[in-house]
Amino acid sequence: MKPMIYLDHAATTGVRPEVLEEMLPYLQEEYGNPSSVYDLAGRSRKAVEEARQRIAGGIGAKPEEIYFTGGGSESDNWVLKGIASLHPHCHIITTRIEHHAVLHACEWLEQQGMRLTYLPVNEQGMVSAEQVRKAIRPDTVLISVMFANNEIGTIQPIREIGRIARRAHVLFHTDAVQAFGHVPIDVNEMNIDLMSASAHKLSGPKGVGMLYIKAGIELPPLIHGGGQERHMRAGTENVPGIAGFGKAAQLAFSTMRERSEKISGLRDYLIRQVLALVPYTRLNGSRGRRLPGNANFSFQFIEGESLLVLLDTRGICASAGSACSTGSPEPSHVLTAIGLPKELAHASVRLTIGEENTKEEIDYTIQQIMELVSRLREVSDEYDAFTRQQG
Ligand SMILES: *Cc1c(COP(=O)(O)O)cnc(C)c1O
Repeated sequence: MKPMIYLDHAATTGVRPEVLEEMLPYLQEEYGNPSSVYDLAGRSRKAVEEARQRIAGGIGAKPEEIYFTGGGSESDNWVLKGIASLHPHCHIITTRIEHHAVLHACEWLEQQGMRLTYLPVNEQGMVSAEQVRKAIRPDTVLISVMFANNEIGTIQPIREIGRIARRAHVLFHTDAVQAFGHVPIDVNEMNIDLMSASAHKLSGPKGVGMLYIKAGIELPPLIHGGGQERHMRAGTENVPGIAGFGKAAQLAFSTMRERSEKISGLRDYLIRQVLALVPYTRLNGSRGRRLPGNANFSFQFIEGESLLVLLDTRGICASAGSACSTGSPEPSHVLTAIGLPKELAHASVRLTIGEENTKEEIDYTIQQIMELVSRLREVSDEYDAFTRQQG
């Protein structure tokens, strides 16, 4: 039987047993609608408020600044479209390497008459705070820079950007979906006004996320209807999902340090070994400012997609660029933005490690990558031409 080694934690994660246990009562006997008056409803209401406290506590926010949503994409869209609706034809600053939930929303807003600046990044995928400062204009109403990139794992200088935004009196949003629960975040120290997060990237359930909205910031409601989420997002709460999100966040915050040490140890080992054992390979992203679990390689002369298919036959789940772009012939916008030529962008594979992965799994993966990359190169015309040229 082939093993099953999951190395795609940036795409999604499985729900932890403790999280499932937290959710189950609200799918079964505790089914009350939090808006109703009886005891049964009160217990659902309490579960939602406890989750709100757990999430707020982990990022230095107040519980009433946390608004539950249907996920990271929804939170991103809420901010961008909400701010744009308050300030039509004004200016938004973002980057070329955002998740499509931000980029495609920005492109749509441009068609509606908003002005957009897409900041470039350096070869490690970093945007500089100085560039952000220079891009600010009198009509700038929002800066949206992701906390950490989902493809190459680069962590942005969020604190510096926050300081610049605050000084310029411009709102600062960060898509922290990859960072939340994985690296320390303090919304006050970092001057973050708005922040998106999603439960399924930290061992919580899919289809639930949150938007942090700093007290006093004006954002129009996302969904009009009942009074849920302080009249900002109507609709009966996803109580089991929210309770699971709260538990996942609590676990993530309380174990962050050891987990991050363990995972980044495995990541560094994987990177070191792959670069040492597989020739003509490069690491994409930053060596130092990188999410604990992220490794992204380009294996010259091969197609990343072909490697993925072969890795799958060996029981290894990995991804080319981002899950959202799998199957698309266009190279990843992130790899293009860091300056990779098309061939190297198409030759890339992302492996993202989680807490349940073991050293043995990483060793097995390294072995398979070595074997499969050389097998693919044996049938590669480019590799053939290259080796001939080398004589
Ligand atoms: C996964 C992801 C999203 C989307 O979150 P969903 O909850 O799946 O909608 C947004 N931004 C980043 C950086 C992500 O990694």
